[in-house]
Amino acid sequence: MQNKPSQNQLLQNKSFYLSRRRLAAWHTVIMTLIVVFSGLVVHRLVVRARWLNLVGNMADFARDVENLMEPTLKQAGAFEPATYQQLPGLCSTSVNCLSDIALLNQSQLLESEAALSKADMLSRLTEEPYCIRFWTNSRQVVGYLSVPIDNSVCQEPNFWKTQRDSQGRYYHDSFFPLQTRYGVQWGSMQMAGSLSSLDRYLMRIEIALVVITLLAIGLIGFASWWLAGLAMRPVQHSYQQMEQFTADAAHELRTPLAALQAIVQTALRSDQLTLEDSKEALQILSRQSYRLTKLVQDLLMLTQMEQQGYLTAFELCSLNEMITDLVDEFEALAIAAEITLVTEIDSSTIHVLANAEQLYRAVANLLSNAIHYTPAKGQITIQLTTEQSQAVIRVKDTGIGIPAAAQPYIFDRFYRADQERSRHKGGTGLGLAITRSIVQAHKGTIRVESKLNQGSVFTISLPFSDIKSGIKSDMKPDIK
Ligand code: ADP
Repeated sequence: MQNKPSQNQLLQNKSFYLSRRRLAAWHTVIMTLIVVFSGLVVHRLVVRARWLNLVGNMADFARDVENLMEPTLKQAGAFEPATYQQLPGLCSTSVNCLSDIALLNQSQLLESEAALSKADMLSRLTEEPYCIRFWTNSRQVVGYLSVPIDNSVCQEPNFWKTQRDSQGRYYHDSFFPLQTRYGVQWGSMQMAGSLSSLDRYLMRIEIALVVITLLAIGLIGFASWWLAGLAMRPVQHSYQQMEQFTADAAHELRTPLAALQAIVQTALRSDQLTLEDSKEALQILSRQSYRLTKLVQDLLMLTQMEQQGYLTAFELCSLNEMITDLVDEFEALAIAAEITLVTEIDSSTIHVLANAEQLYRAVANLLSNAIHYTPAKGQITIQLTTEQSQAVIRVKDTGIGIPAAAQPYIFDRFYRADQERSRHKGGTGLGLAITRSIVQAHKGTIRVESKLNQGSVFTISLPFSDIKSGIKSDMKPDIK
């Protein structure tokens, strides 16, 4: 049956959900600003490039007109018959041809012989509406050249800058000086080119940019939500672990405390407390307080190790001596449990750079477990050897074994594969977690192989130090 989520879990989930939403929202806002800013920069660059292209085209066109006109010009401010031949559609204000300008179209232009010979120029001329006004040196308009253009622009008496015709099209103008064939200043030519193509182009670019930006914002929103979830996961996981740890620690502390309280209450309530009863009560008190002390010590040790992640007071120690001492210490326990303790130690001395006290404790935990989880008549073998430049300590037992499903968790704090047995032997469920922390602080590894009802093998591998060649620097632990 699935457990109902507690109030605390609900609040926690809500706060993680809120944080995720906030993180995703901030990420979306920042990324959107970046995308919009980049879009504006792209837009600006495109407009600029297109504008320079347009102005360049106008200048090219103006040069073409200049090249056609100037050889025909003799007198300042006056057109010659040859000028009319060269520029079909050219109108002088003196003959009042302005009304015809709007009627001039490409086919009419192409009918002209001159136009045919200047096909290249005319094709460009008719690509977009143009209007050219010719100014004398005394600033009077003397002629027009306009292809199909709105009269309103061409006839505009003022100097143009950016003009708009009756259909709402914009024109940009520029002035170009003209000379007679004799090199005398003839006047100037004012050219206005339609900005319609630029407008159309920009419209397309703007629509594309808006669509791309909207799509990008959608994608960013989705990605932000996903990323925020990914970023929150380890935080949530470590929060859950912390909560689990607090709950487990409280649970472990509660049991001996409750037992202590019960004994004290019973003793206090009893009217006739014999010496024997008192002794028994005190023995239980002593056992429970020992358990409490051990638990608190283990917890402190583990927390300290996990916070610091390293150990100090490293020295060169002989593992051979350490194993011999351990066997001496545990021999009596093994005999009492009717277990045979066998040692297989390499003849050569194996040294490691270690905090001797802690490393002793790590291996002692393994030995203590092996004795507790191996039934009478069993055997425990403690092996010391070297494998691929590693010092290897193996603790094998023929005990109850660990179910495969439990093996990945046995190094977790408070995890017990066999609750009953662990509590019975007074285990805190912290032994293997402490052992692993110590081994890791020595830059070593620990692993387990086990078969249910057949036994377990715990293997500790440590970088070993060859005393003859000296201690290698990469073997030195981080002593901060
Ligand atoms: P505990 O104090 O419960 O022994 P440990 O952290 O030392 O805590 O071990 C965790 C669990 O791993 C134990 O509860 C036990 O179920 C299992 N375990 C450890 N060593 C052995 C072993 N040699 N044989 C069988 N089970 C073991």
